[in-house]
Amino acid sequence: MKLNCLGGFREVGKNAVLVEAKKKIMFDYGVKVETGEMPIMPKSVDALVLNHAHLDHVGSAPALYKRQKPDIFSTITTFELGDMILRDSLKIARIEHKKKNFDRKEMERMKKSRVEITYGQNYEGDGYTLEFFNAGHIPGSFCCILEIEGKRIFYTSDFNTDTTRLLKGANIKTKDIDVLIMESTYSNRDHPPRKETDKGFFNAVQDTVSNGGVAVIPSFAIGRAAEVLMTIDSFKPDFPVYLDGMARSATEISLDHPEFIRDPKALRKAFRRARVVDSDIMRKKVIKDPCAIVTTSGLLEGGPSVRYVKSLYNNVESSIIFTGFLIPKTAGRYLVDTGRFVTEGFDLKIKMNIQKFDFSAHTGRDGLFNFVNKMNPEKVVCLHGDYCERFASELRGRGFDAIAPVNGDVVDL
Ligand SMILES: [Zn+2]
Repeated sequence: MKLNCLGGFREVGKNAVLVEAKKKIMFDYGVKVETGEMPIMPKSVDALVLNHAHLDHVGSAPALYKRQKPDIFSTITTFELGDMILRDSLKIARIEHKKKNFDRKEMERMKKSRVEITYGQNYEGDGYTLEFFNAGHIPGSFCCILEIEGKRIFYTSDFNTDTTRLLKGANIKTKDIDVLIMESTYSNRDHPPRKETDKGFFNAVQDTVSNGGVAVIPSFAIGRAAEVLMTIDSFKPDFPVYLDGMARSATEISLDHPEFIRDPKALRKAFRRARVVDSDIMRKKVIKDPCAIVTTSGLLEGGPSVRYVKSLYNNVESSIIFTGFLIPKTAGRYLVDTGRFVTEGFDLKIKMNIQKFDFSAHTGRDGLFNFVNKMNPEKVVCLHGDYCERFASELRGRGFDAIAPVNGDVVDL
């Protein structure tokens, strides 16, 4: 049996992992968001498992349906959120005249191969079994165990063992794992306690509004915007809170399938209290008075968040409050590093306050080590991170057989 490392190894982006036995099972098929780069294209695939609806995990999936039509396993939330972001990525490619890895026709073909699954379910395929568990990462996300030819292979995709306002943490009870293929995003550090983050974040928003400014809160559409809205709402704000961009549809889709949300009532309440902004006229109007605006994109790469910062860049009372990791080479990261906002032909020196909080949806360092101890696998394969090699070497130091292959490697299982 072989493990084909097609993408996402020693990097964050374009996850694609193919287990090749008598049947070929693919986990995720993403895109490198910053460059549009695809994973290596396999000759054939019998089944595709899409663990969650982030572009680095689903962004190239339709390209597999050009010449084949493998069954595709996922939750209803991931199918719907995936549809939304794939359509959006096609739209952005069209506007920016970028090369498209697939088109609408392949998206439609992919839809016909859907098999909807849910947490706790076992799916008996032809020559393999799949078992699905809550991953605690974003709504609808799951970890998966593939049992094939006598081996139990656990693919974590992205996961979070900590419970957040939005989601229950991944609490997976299983045993006899032969191979653990795991993300290593935060193998270098732990996250600050969420309670402290919540408080610091709300204080930053409140201070901005009290000073007469606008708090622009760039957030990822899927999961993060909902978490941020719930956090603000929990402090009973006495100022207007607005929601703008794809964050709105992503939150609506998440609410349509409340079985994947920890506290749908609290999310519904926070969502109802937020006022939706959906036009440039309204954007100009709402920033005239102090308020908080939760808006996409989280990295200031397109979307209404760019428009807000362009309008407010000179305003010393206002703030940009980031809510998570800023990918290198993005406008958001450049702004935090240099104080300049360089995008779409603009180069602005920003006078707004810039702050950053860690609302990560990934397991931190301690949690990753605890998880490996708990699973106690025969072999660990590390991917999805900037420190995969170091993590594998630390695991070897703790007695595990761990490796960090590179893209293109084929590992014997
Ligand atoms: Zn993810």
